[in-house]
Amino acid sequence: MTALEISELAKDYVDSYTGDQVTAIGNVSFTVEEGEFVSILGPSGCGKTTVLNIIAGFVEQTSGVVKVGGRVVDGPGPDRGVVFQSHALFPWKTVLGNAVFGLRMKGVPAAQRRATALEYLDLVGLAGFENKYPHELSGGMQQRLGVARVLANEPAVMLMDEPFASIDAQTRRKLQDDLTRVFELRRPTVFFVTHDIDEAVFLSDRVIVLSRRPSRVREIVTVDLPRP
Ligand code: ADP
Ligand code: ADP
Repeated sequence: MTALEISELAKDYVDSYTGDQVTAIGNVSFTVEEGEFVSILGPSGCGKTTVLNIIAGFVEQTSGVVKVGGRVVDGPGPDRGVVFQSHALFPWKTVLGNAVFGLRMKGVPAAQRRATALEYLDLVGLAGFENKYPHELSGGMQQRLGVARVLANEPAVMLMDEPFASIDAQTRRKLQDDLTRVFELRRPTVFFVTHDIDEAVFLSDRVIVLSRRPSRVREIVTVDLPRP
């Protein structure tokens, strides 16, 4: 089943200083199948976040269609969950309070949302941290919570915008390893924005490259070397 279908998406912004029209993206089409992890890769400014923000419903496209589960979407909805680069957690809520929030919005009964939230906190390695507050967690831990909170809601499509960009290299590698295991276990449908080719290759089933120059690549081969 196709989870996400993007057809001929285009977006022009009007520059607020000059009043000029800026074409951020034009003619972007792709699909993401259920359970697939797809990255969109490209240099800064090529329009990756614009694509994600349109899918999320935060930004309106100039033309083109976004379908989630076969349904045309316009505007945000609970069928799309977003993990941001900065954590966007509720600072006044505990880890558990943050993790149950979306489930409460969905009308899941209290006992069940607690159990579901705890299950996902455990999966991402936050067991025992339920009663801490976000400021008591490291950046990597906060991002684990950001992921658990979205996974717990089981959205049709999980959108991630450079979620590991502000985390130091060593923590990031561990986080990627751990979350890859969770994703392989639960198989969420993920649309992942990154400018980091290693990250895209390491995490994804499929990579979409956004490029303003004609691409000559016919095939990319990855060779798995033994770990040091
Ligand atoms: P990326 O995520 O690949 O870095 P973006 O989607 O953020 O790219 O930006 C694509 C292009 O659109 C850039 O040229 C950027 O300057 C422009 N852009 C993005 N958001 C706005 C905005 N709100 N107003 C005007 N131009 C914008
Ligand atoms: P209820 O509001 O019926 O207790 P919730 O699903 O909102 O159910 O919360 C489940 C658990 O999460 C609660 O038992 C509570 O311990 C914790 N929790 C929820 N919101 C907060 C919060 N703002 N601060 C701290 N803990 C919270």
